[in-house]
Amino acid sequence: MTPQLRREKCDVLVVGSGGAGLRAAIAADEKIGNNGRVILATKGKIGYSGVTAVACSDRMAFHATLPFTEPATEDTWFYHAEDIYEIGGKVSDAHLARILATKSAEAYNFLDSIGVPFVKNEEGYPHQFVTDGSDYARACYTGPRTAVNIEEKLVEYFQNTGVDSLENCTVFRLLVSHGEICGALALVEEEPGHEEFIAIETGAVIMATGGGGEIYAENVFPRGNSGDAFTSSYLVGAELVNMEFLQIGIASLATKLNCSGSMMRAIPRFVNDAGEEFVFKYFPEGTAPMEIYNTMFQKGATWPLTYEKETHKFDIAVYKERRAGRKVYLDYTTNPTGFDFNKLDPDLQRRYQNEMKFDLGKERRENSPADRLQEINTESIKWLQEKGIDPVAGDWVEIGSCSQHFQGGIKINSRGETSVKGLYAAGECAGGQHGANRPGGNALLDGQVFGRICGEQAAFKALKKDHPDAGTNPDNALQEEIAAVDHRRGLPAKEVREKVQQLMSWSASVVRTGEGLDEGLEQLKELWLQGVSKDENGITYALETRAMFPLAEMILKAARERDESRGPHLRFQRYEDNISLPHKDPDWQQYLVFRRGSDGNMKMERREPVRDYYYED
Ligand SMILES: Cc1cc2nc3c(=O)[nH]c(=O)nc-3n(C[C@H](O)[C@H](O)[C@H](O)COP(=O)(O)OP(=O)(O)OC[C@H]3O[C@@H](n4cnc5c(N)ncnc54)[C@H](O)[C@@H]3O)c2cc1C
Repeated sequence: MTPQLRREKCDVLVVGSGGAGLRAAIAADEKIGNNGRVILATKGKIGYSGVTAVACSDRMAFHATLPFTEPATEDTWFYHAEDIYEIGGKVSDAHLARILATKSAEAYNFLDSIGVPFVKNEEGYPHQFVTDGSDYARACYTGPRTAVNIEEKLVEYFQNTGVDSLENCTVFRLLVSHGEICGALALVEEEPGHEEFIAIETGAVIMATGGGGEIYAENVFPRGNSGDAFTSSYLVGAELVNMEFLQIGIASLATKLNCSGSMMRAIPRFVNDAGEEFVFKYFPEGTAPMEIYNTMFQKGATWPLTYEKETHKFDIAVYKERRAGRKVYLDYTTNPTGFDFNKLDPDLQRRYQNEMKFDLGKERRENSPADRLQEINTESIKWLQEKGIDPVAGDWVEIGSCSQHFQGGIKINSRGETSVKGLYAAGECAGGQHGANRPGGNALLDGQVFGRICGEQAAFKALKKDHPDAGTNPDNALQEEIAAVDHRRGLPAKEVREKVQQLMSWSASVVRTGEGLDEGLEQLKELWLQGVSKDENGITYALETRAMFPLAEMILKAARERDESRGPHLRFQRYEDNISLPHKDPDWQQYLVFRRGSDGNMKMERREPVRDYYYED
């Protein structure tokens, strides 16, 4: 029996309450005012769900090109846009990079005006530093909790708008009529078994649903970032782009702390559960230990895996050890074999000195990674201690290769429009604005810039009040969705999800080979044929799990097609190799676009990105 369907109507529906969703809702509300209704629907509670609300790392960055930002010339924006596009590997749309750069000051000023506590100098200008992937200091910050501080202030501002909210609410299907958005199906489920289905009729939906890291077994995403919106957008005809590119890096499995920055610069031992210091095996035979430790130090500034930096050897080492069934740890109690602090590259030693917050003395610095970590970043130690791991007392930090950010996503143009009329995308779920690498600090910026653009554009469209009627569309769609996860057919959702996550973490993570990706695709197909059935975790969980399939398929197929290495996509001829295939330039300075064909099959097309910063679409 199909359950009751509550009906709601609004002019703009925003999906997601991270930085992008909140900014989009605020902008839509400002434009629509009393002439219409904006709803924000989100999984979990507003201010507590999504990456923006919880992410924390060494020093989180928000990139902005301000009037005084280096190099402080008339066209300073150009250097910012160039970093996004060039360091991105020339596989993104250059005009979207220009929009990010030129609108970054406005985005910063808005956040500053609502009280985000950016660190400032005596004159009141924000302090800016250099992040990975940039030549100039343009990263504004509040500290390790920049994202959380942004979320908190946006929530405060949002609460004074006229936007209606639906919490614990998953938007699991979009509704279209004649190729245009006419509504969405949502599901409020506070706990498994207590569910309410809602049909929301609207002509404008803004997806601001973040990345889909949960489709990997090893990830640093919070619960709920399962990627279902990539799939629901794909299923109604939206194009998706750059799906093979996602940030993967070494992180603590128990606490989800990225082991970047000082966690590497303290030079810990990388050990497996047999007590072996294994990194030597993954560097060419005869590499001097101090060469390895110089690279380890540099790994601090190039946290996500990237082909363009030698530091990816550590990612390969961690991934392969785990793949071989061994647990892997960082040990801060003892210096790694052959390490001599005084033989670190002099530039790196200077950098270390600059980062020292206090001085524990030469002897302790030379002899103990834990003491070095204390000297340069006590916050990381505190964070771990609060979560029950004490590297100073001798606890080893268990690590894995965790997914952290999706560079690709639902393809947008300069107005945040997707290829489906009435559907917009902002923030991490959107694609085309970032390439293979995403220079640090530009994801938080992205959510603010395109969140605002989408909110305004969706409001303009909504005010025309000319979208098609949803008719009986919602009832039929609901019946289909419920039947698809019927508990009498298929494998329990939990079992399916774990299998999908595992196959993604093996086939489409750090080491990608043609054979491994084919195997991944084959396993995915077999699982799909068995079906997903609702289990004790409830219907939201089952629908999310089912939606993981097209998303996983796009990532696997894009990674299979791209027979070169670029950014975080390391392609190997054979699994045994420790050196990946090179760039294929200019051939592969192109992106892969997915869409659902009229026959219902997945189509993949290789396309030329927009190269012109001034292109108008
Ligand atoms: C540890 C870590 C460190 C990072 N450091 C930086 C940094 O220093 N600088 C930087 O720029 N970026 C950084 N990033 C990336 C950046 O934080 C994220 O890309 C950004 O916060 C994403 O914002 P968002 O609004 O797009 O998505 P999110 O904040 O993830 O919000 C997504 C929202 O959508 C909701 N949702 C998802 N699916 C549905 C659905 N079907 N129905 C309803 N709601 C749904 C979620 O519940 C959530 O509310 C970091 C990320 C991590 C994990």
